[in-house]
Amino acid sequence: MKHPITPNRQINIPYLMKIGNGKIRKIGRYLFDKDMLKAAVFWGEGIAKMLGKDFYAGIKEYNIELIRDEAVNTIAIEDITKTAFSLPPDTNAIIGIGGGKALDFAKYVAYLLRLPFISVPTSTSNDGFCSPTSSLTVAGARKSVKSSIPYGVVIDLDVIHSCPISFIYSGIGDMFSKVSALWDWKQASLKTQEKYNDFASMLSYNSLDLLYIGHSKDVSTAQFQRSLVNSLLYSGIAMEIAGTSRPASGSEHLISHALDSISEHPQLHGLQVGVASYLCSILQDNTATDALRKILKEIGFFDFVAKNPFKKEEFIKALELAPQIKQNYYTILSEPDSLSRAKEIIATDKILKKLIV
Ligand SMILES: [Zn+2]
Repeated sequence: MKHPITPNRQINIPYLMKIGNGKIRKIGRYLFDKDMLKAAVFWGEGIAKMLGKDFYAGIKEYNIELIRDEAVNTIAIEDITKTAFSLPPDTNAIIGIGGGKALDFAKYVAYLLRLPFISVPTSTSNDGFCSPTSSLTVAGARKSVKSSIPYGVVIDLDVIHSCPISFIYSGIGDMFSKVSALWDWKQASLKTQEKYNDFASMLSYNSLDLLYIGHSKDVSTAQFQRSLVNSLLYSGIAMEIAGTSRPASGSEHLISHALDSISEHPQLHGLQVGVASYLCSILQDNTATDALRKILKEIGFFDFVAKNPFKKEEFIKALELAPQIKQNYYTILSEPDSLSRAKEIIATDKILKKLIV
């Protein structure tokens, strides 16, 4: 398939990247160093109670003025817009501290006001903390809305370590979903007009190496968690380079979106995409399937999901819905025989039989 030449374009990368222990206490200093002296901070619910003491101590020490300081529990675009335009014009940084919602909220406020956004994730259940999009509700429906990649990412490994292990496994699932996502992207570029970016694809694929090599496969260790955080961060940058979520999202994300809309109790995003990615990689006849199976087995991902498996009826329904979620978007699920083959694989694959019951 012939594609028009893509001109070089400028991309953003985070300029402030701090990953380590005790980082919450240092946010005040990081802001001071970048001359961001008037900041608005948005917290996830209950997070200020946990981390406020350290955060405020650093803020006070460096005389940072908190122009706004509040907990958020909405991701409705109307609420966010209202908040953004109620901030004083001399605000010069937006901080989000928390899980998904607070980060999506703060990221979009910063995008609307063209202000630097400092992302401080308190769990690593997905790659959203460094992605160039916000997951918001628009007129009541969940949408992925264009935003900017964070100016800064501050990750306190002490905080990540204290999270329930389910968040770590969810982050792992989101990471490994690249195996099927990158295959879908490549095929889409061969079969349709969709643009492909070799560098973004390589970066995304190589980020998985961090989880394969050089250290313990025990997901509760600080070493493993540091690698997980680093690799999730690369995802966001690969998406920014590509100008699309393709380097980190394909058929497996469509299945997860469908599960979110039809499940009685949707599971964590990364657990859904991780299982769906394994299924899709078999469907794709993906050459990385064996390696994917091996690593997910080794780090205990399958055993973890098996404790609270997916309902077969819901999973099949999600598979039926998935190809219609995005128009003009080729994935393995666009192939006419995929649904029947997927059902067959779910019924016969030794691992999937325990995860989808
Ligand atoms: Zn994801």
